Order: sequence, then C-alpha cells, then structure tokens
Amino acid sequence: MSFSFPADRSIPAGGGVAVLPRPCACSPLALTFLPPVPVLSDSGLRCAPLPGVLPSKASFSLHSILVHHYLWGAWYPKGGSGEIVFRTIPIIQKAGGNVLGRAPVQSILLDSQGKACGVSVKKGQDVVNIFAPIIISDAGIFNTYERLLPPEARALPGKKIQSRLRMATHGEGGFSVFVGLRGSSQELGLEATNYYIYSDNDLDQMYVLSSRDEAAANIPLLFVTSPSAKDPTWEMRYPGKSTLSIITMAKYEWFEEWKDKPVHKRGDAYEDVKKTFVDAIMQTIFKLYPHIEDKVEYVSGGTPLTNQHYIASPRGEFYGMDHDMARTQIEAIATARPQTAVPNLYLTGQDVALCGFAGALQGAFLCTSAILKRNIYLDAMQLWNRVQGSNGKKKI
Ligand SMILES: Cc1cc2nc3c(=O)[nH]c(=O)nc-3n(C[C@H](O)[C@H](O)[C@H](O)COP(=O)(O)OP(=O)(O)OC[C@H]3O[C@@H](n4cnc5c(N)ncnc54)[C@H](O)[C@@H]3O)c2cc1C
Repeated sequence: MSFSFPADRSIPAGGGVAVLPRPCACSPLALTFLPPVPVLSDSGLRCAPLPGVLPSKASFSLHSILVHHYLWGAWYPKGGSGEIVFRTIPIIQKAGGNVLGRAPVQSILLDSQGKACGVSVKKGQDVVNIFAPIIISDAGIFNTYERLLPPEARALPGKKIQSRLRMATHGEGGFSVFVGLRGSSQELGLEATNYYIYSDNDLDQMYVLSSRDEAAANIPLLFVTSPSAKDPTWEMRYPGKSTLSIITMAKYEWFEEWKDKPVHKRGDAYEDVKKTFVDAIMQTIFKLYPHIEDKVEYVSGGTPLTNQHYIASPRGEFYGMDHDMARTQIEAIATARPQTAVPNLYLTGQDVALCGFAGALQGAFLCTSAILKRNIYLDAMQLWNRVQGSNGKKKI
C-alpha cells in the first residue's frame, strides 16, 4: 500500500521575503495542551508514523498536527536544503555574528556564579573559549544536558535538569539511502511528491522487535522522495541526472557494536549488515519505479551511526527526542521550554517544539521570544501582513 502527499511547492531561494503562509500548523503545540490519546488500538490501522514514532507510542493529537501541516502540500527550497544555510549565514554575519564550521563545542562555560558565559570549541587540535552574554544550544536536550553542560551543573540540586531529562527519551534511529540516477526526472517519471510505502501495518511487532538479522527482511515502512524532481533549478545544474532519498527507522542497537569505529573504517561486517538493508530497500524501490533499475549510478546507505557522526544525534535519531505519548503529557509540555535552569543558557530547535524544519523553526520562535521577552509570532504576523499588503493580497 502506498499513498502520496500533494505535490511539493518551492520556496524561493534568495529573492523575496520567505515567510511561512502563517506561523504553521505546528505552532498550536506551543500554545495548547494536547490530551495524550493513542493513535489507534487496532493494529490493522496503526501506520503512518510521521514524526518518526512507533504507532504504539504515538499521540493522535500530535499525529494530527503533522498531517494538518501537510494537508496543502509540503515545501522544498529552490536549490536544495543547503540554500537554507547559505542564505542564513549572511544574516547572522550582518548582525555582527559569525558561523564556524567543523568546530564542535566541547563544553558550555559557566562563570563563578554558575551562569552560562561561553563555549569551548575545538578547532583543529586547539580548544578555543568563546564568550557571550547568552548561549543558545541547538544541539538537542541530551547533547546539551548530558555532554556539554559541566557535570557539576548537571548534578546541582534544584536545577531541574535531571527531572527534565527523565521526561525525555531518545527517538528511534533512522536508516537512509541516497540514490543517484542516470536520466532526468521527466525521463524517469519521478514526481515532486512524498511516498509512504507500507508492506505491513504493524510496525511495532514485525520490525523494531526483530533481531538485526531478521530486520532487513521485515522493513515495514519507507518514506521515498525525489529531491531532484522537487527542485526547479536541478535540471539546469545537473542535466540528465536525478536523485532519490529514502528513509526508514532502524534500531541504534543493531549497529551499536561499531559505534567506536571511525566513519568509513567500520569494517566489512558493518558494511555487510548495512548492505542487507540497502538491498532490501532497493528491491521495494524497484517495485515502485521498475524502469530505473538499470539507471542507478550511485547508492549510499546511512545507519544510525551515520546520523550520530554527521548530525551528532546521540543514538542515531532522525528527529531528536522521541515524539511519544510522554512528550504530550502536560508536565512534559510545560517544562519543554527554551529557558533552562542555568541562567543565560537557552535551548532551541526540534527538542523545544517538534521535529522537522517547521517544527525546529517553532523552537527558534519560542527561544527568540523567551530571550527578547516578546511574542515574535506577532512580529511574524505583522511582517506577513506587510508583505501581503504590498502584494495586494489578503491579510490575517
Ligand atoms: C535524513 C533526514 C531527512 C529529513 N527530512 C526532512 C524533511 O524532508 N523535512 C523536514 O521538515 N524535516 C526533515 N528531517 C528532520 C529535520 O532535519 C530535523 O527535524 C531538523 O533538522 C531539526 O532541526 P534542529 O535545528 O533542531 O536540529 P539539527 O538540524 O539536527 O541541528 C543540530 C545541529 O547541532 C549540531 N551539534 C550537535 N552537537 C554539537 C556540538 N557539540 N558542537 C557543535 N555542533 C553540534 C549538529 O551537528 C547539528 O548540525 C530529516 C532528517 C533527516 C536526518
């Protein structure tokens, strides 16, 4: 069984003001308490884990927010997701900031009063201390609290850090496959859409509870999309070539034994396990697109360890903290705030609101509002009205 969401729309890269049509359907989570109702008790109907959460742990309300977010289609940045970074850096620099690449933060620095006052950053072999009046962490709740905050701050009584951590669990790990194809999207019939392919409805039983050796034969869900088909600039930049991205869930434990090995040097046994997943996924892809089988030029698989290496997700999560029922409990929502128990330290991104680009943006909205002590959703609405007004369109 498969279904697809409506065709994607492109966000202009560069020209124009990129304002979401409204603060987006994810924003009600920031404002409303969602009663934690399970998705469905009938395993025959439990599927579509949009926020990367198993159906048995999913909240119907949270699921509905994400479905609602997709109802009018999704968005894709013209020029690819790299454009988001490329267009954001000059704005940061214009405001007097700077952006360092390949510069992992080693720890958050605290002053003698226990207030956050900077970060120590590794640059090559050196460690450099950078001081600032406010520290905002987008590294996620686990990285920030368990790795970056000095142990003495983590353990301080009354700091509420441990109780906050106890309310959070790691999201499921993710497995990705990136495919390069000979032929344009038009020639290969690739559409600007997202497919969710289910081979079975019971994701919990047949897959996640499987052993590693059985798992590849039981992959129940694939999210399949063609970034090249979504990007109107692609054909100009890479004529006659196309891409597919495929993702699914995968347990961190299935790959954990190689966690201390360096990337690209994890050995044949790791590569063999990875290949069983890639091969199984590609068999399903060839059923969806039978005509591309002899057009594949490149296939690359990524395990939860790949996510751990490239996006620093502690247990290979795609979407940060688990979006399970516990996350929609009233206490968890009330404490999932950008403000932390450490003065001058704030959290932003998906662990403050919801996963996904739009969810992470909500985290940034909430964080900015907390720091500026102003509701910047109102600023965004005013900006939207100004842009609409100058285009002669309807205001909200
Ligand atoms: C393969 C894949 C496909 C996805 N597809 C989509 C999609 O199509 N649409 C969508 O909306 N969402 C998608 N998502 C989810 C989306 O990418 C995330 O929800 C979103 O990026 C979260 O944003 P964030 O800023 O909170 O965290 P991240 O984007 O994860 O950013 C956190 C950053 O912190 C950095 N970091 C961590 N620790 C340190 C440290 N010690 N020092 C320095 N830096 C550190 C990490 O390297 C990372 O760059 C996808 C995710 C994956 C993995």
